[in-house]
Amino acid sequence: NHQVRLAKRPETTATREHWNFTTEPVADPSDGGVLVQTLSLSLDPAMRGWLNDAKSYIPPVAIGEVMRAGGVGRVLASKNPAFAVGDTVYGTLGVQEYALLPQEAIQRAGLVKIDLGMGTVGQWLNVLGMPGMTGYFGLLDIGQPQPGQTVVVSAAAGAVGQTVGQLAKIKGCRAVGIAGGQAKCDWVVRELGFDACIDYKAGPGAVREGLKQHCPKGVDVYFDNVGGEILDHVLAKLARKARVIVCGAISQYNNANSMPGAGPRNYLSLLVNRARMEGMVVFDYADRFPQAIAELAGYLKDGRMQSKEDVVQGLDSFPETLNKLFAGGNFGKLVLQVAAA
Ligand code: NDP
Repeated sequence: NHQVRLAKRPETTATREHWNFTTEPVADPSDGGVLVQTLSLSLDPAMRGWLNDAKSYIPPVAIGEVMRAGGVGRVLASKNPAFAVGDTVYGTLGVQEYALLPQEAIQRAGLVKIDLGMGTVGQWLNVLGMPGMTGYFGLLDIGQPQPGQTVVVSAAAGAVGQTVGQLAKIKGCRAVGIAGGQAKCDWVVRELGFDACIDYKAGPGAVREGLKQHCPKGVDVYFDNVGGEILDHVLAKLARKARVIVCGAISQYNNANSMPGAGPRNYLSLLVNRARMEGMVVFDYADRFPQAIAELAGYLKDGRMQSKEDVVQGLDSFPETLNKLFAGGNFGKLVLQVAAA
């Protein structure tokens, strides 16, 4: 069983020296346990946060521990009546080829059976998985978009962003993306049907000018995946009673001293516009995932939604592949394929 373990905590970017590659024999499950073969792992920006020895919504990964990761796998051996050999499952499998889960770890890993008839392995890590759930509940529950309103989403071509913009369109809104580079912007407009997309890498005034051009009535809902300067530009364009979903701040995750100056300059826009900003953590909605998955799977089936995954092969590439997220090197949901489905 090849595994990737945390060797030491990074100050800024995590590189190969922060990881240990280990091998151990594959064992049989104990009574009530299962052995799962990892097929594909979800690589997430949140992983960077789990490496910090800091209080968060989930404890940090310990030094020497197998790196935490959600993934899709296949049950190879089972001594638990809820799982049969050959079942396809989703759960926190870790960055390793095989996950041996004793009975008490099954619930902690959130192990559930999934139906490949509803979506591919990639889609189960994307629109039907954690990023899709984040986009769905963040946009609909916290953003409460009304038909005709303008929804702006950053990291628009990424995993969460693609679901947010497409859902906004399905719900009758104007969807404006912000993404790095022309290729990503073209894709969200031409393939996903966003009304516009602003390339924030196009030049210093690009975001400000783009918002002015594409959001003439202001921004009713901002789904923030990136924080930093882009957040500040959008705050300056909020409409009356706007809602800002604080989903993530990837532009800050590798900063040793995140958010120098403690927060956005334009926060008083919240006051002027009677707007609100609200944080969300996807796990809070776990009870409602089945309903959201059914709805999103319906959109994938009837063609109203598309999904794009960026699949990289092989456990050994984990350190470099993870870093694609922080440089915009991924185009679509970043997936590490460990074994063929
Ligand atoms: P993505 O697939 O969107 O990948 C990350 C993208 O972020 C990159 O492709 C890049 O796109 C963009 N990016 C990276 N650095 C910067 C930067 N400095 N400035 C602007 N954009 C940048 O990842 P996910 O969809 O998985 O995650 C998106 C966000 O959602 C993250 O902040 C993540 O932490 C958050 N999240 C929060 C959850 C919650 O429960 N609150 C759950 C899941 C995710 P580009 O090329 O366009 O720059």
